[in-house]
Amino acid sequence: MTKVYYDADADLERLTSSSVALVGYGNQGRSWALNLRDSGCTDLRVCVRADESRERAREDGFEVFELEEASAADIVCVLIPDDAIPALPLRRRDDGLTLVASGYSFAFERFAPAGDLGMVAPRMLGPEVRRCYEEGAGFITAVGVQHDATGDALARILAVAKGIGGLREGAIELTPRQEAVLDLAVEQILSPALTHVNTAFVGTMLGHGIPLEAIMTELFLSGEVERTYRLLRKEGFSGQLEHHSPASQYGQLSRRGSYDALDFAPIMQKLADDIASGRFADEWDAEGEAGYPKLEALKEIHAGPGIQALEREMRAKLGPEAAGARASEDAEE
Ligand code: NDP
Repeated sequence: MTKVYYDADADLERLTSSSVALVGYGNQGRSWALNLRDSGCTDLRVCVRADESRERAREDGFEVFELEEASAADIVCVLIPDDAIPALPLRRRDDGLTLVASGYSFAFERFAPAGDLGMVAPRMLGPEVRRCYEEGAGFITAVGVQHDATGDALARILAVAKGIGGLREGAIELTPRQEAVLDLAVEQILSPALTHVNTAFVGTMLGHGIPLEAIMTELFLSGEVERTYRLLRKEGFSGQLEHHSPASQYGQLSRRGSYDALDFAPIMQKLADDIASGRFADEWDAEGEAGYPKLEALKEIHAGPGIQALEREMRAKLGPEAAGARASEDAEE
């Protein structure tokens, strides 16, 4: 059975009695620093390069240090982009704990300092980690041990997770490898499949003479799909189903097996193998070393000026942006 941890499973004293260094002051770094301070962590240092991040941390009232100066802390939270982690100038103590917010660098053996190694990965965007904490709300987290050198790794990891507010809604125990594979699989397996399905749907509806604006409204602009997913989260599948009309319920359920003959599994399995074997991580490293030429070319094709102009036009016509534009036009009249 998968283990789920809550606030009662962690002892904040393990955090507040330790020296803590945060490496990076970006999306996650800033939220973690503010939350840990509010959770009673007093020996807290922010270690960043000398630029805008450093200024922001100073403005927020933190003492700032060079990256190297994180090494001596009892607990080091590494909160910089995954690709940049392997090159960090860190020399960790055998009894220290080094934490990451994503399993990637541990899973693909890009980072293996001395001491305890762990993961606290919020399933939440960085700035929201702060907002949820301030609101007293929580967010689901994935926590895991990569290496237990002291015999105390899990207790220390849970203390940090509690300190950032990451145990309020529950933390799922995952190895960093499981977390990394799942995270990459959503991006590389599920997202392209959904894009493929959406594209086929748009083509089918255009073929039936439905205007593109109406199709896009159904898919994105109305927010209906988004709200349905929100209800799915809050009420579960059967609960959210009751919010649809009987005809909608019957249509959805009676056609549910329509695609059963399509076998996605072999394609998904191949993509999952690329992730789990480390082939994707090697490919991504090579892409970084070459200066990201393929990424730039792919963005130009799939999210370039043509797509951006179409989306701008749609949003100006329909949805909240259109409402805003109309309201300011009315005010001018
Ligand atoms: P950001 O891109 O916001 O991190 C920016 C910070 O990293 C800045 O302080 C920046 O410093 C520093 N930084 C960037 N490159 C380097 C480098 N080469 N050497 C040293 N410092 C560097 O990262 P996120 O907060 O988005 O991600 C941090 C971790 O959290 C990652 O492991 C990510 O996978 C994970 N995560 C992120 C989520 C999110 O919502 N963003 C969600 C869950 C997990 P400078 O200003 O000097 O460039």
